[in-house]
Amino acid sequence: MQNSLSCEQVTALLSFYAEDKLSSKLAQYVKQHLEKCPSCMEKFMIMKNMLTKLTELHDEELENPYATKQYEDFKSNLSAYVDNELNNSDSIKIKKIAISNPLARQDLENIYTFKKLLYSSFEKTKNDMKNDYSRIVINQLQLDEEKSLDPFFKLSAAFVLMLTLIVAGIIKFLYF
Ligand SMILES: [Zn+2]
Repeated sequence: MQNSLSCEQVTALLSFYAEDKLSSKLAQYVKQHLEKCPSCMEKFMIMKNMLTKLTELHDEELENPYATKQYEDFKSNLSAYVDNELNNSDSIKIKKIAISNPLARQDLENIYTFKKLLYSSFEKTKNDMKNDYSRIVINQLQLDEEKSLDPFFKLSAAFVLMLTLIVAGIIKFLYF
């Protein structure tokens, strides 16, 4: 692997880096990039703060009256809920808990904010890919156009040549 990462690569790795889940070599590459790149560093700081906040919330929960068995259920289903993976009755249950339990509501808000942040990080990469794809499609269309023009020109050239020969033949037949 090359040891200088692009901003897109670093962005994709940031959440793992913030949670210390990268290999030491890869973490080193990310660190080197962050030291040189203010915009990636800013993204990293936002992500890091959010993770710290989530950890703090978790510590507060331990003495919180809302930290019930129901709330534990809510937490174990939360990411499935956000990803629309729950059936209707389970997802209604989650919604009800989020309405009645401030801890649950806070968790839901946090996970949505986190998802939004991640999504906006990937947005640029996705758009770049989309642009490349459009370019490929345009090139392909232009090629098709050239191909369809080409046989037509060949055909009409052949037709003109044939016509010339016939006319020349007729002229020759009539006058010589
Ligand atoms: Zn960068």
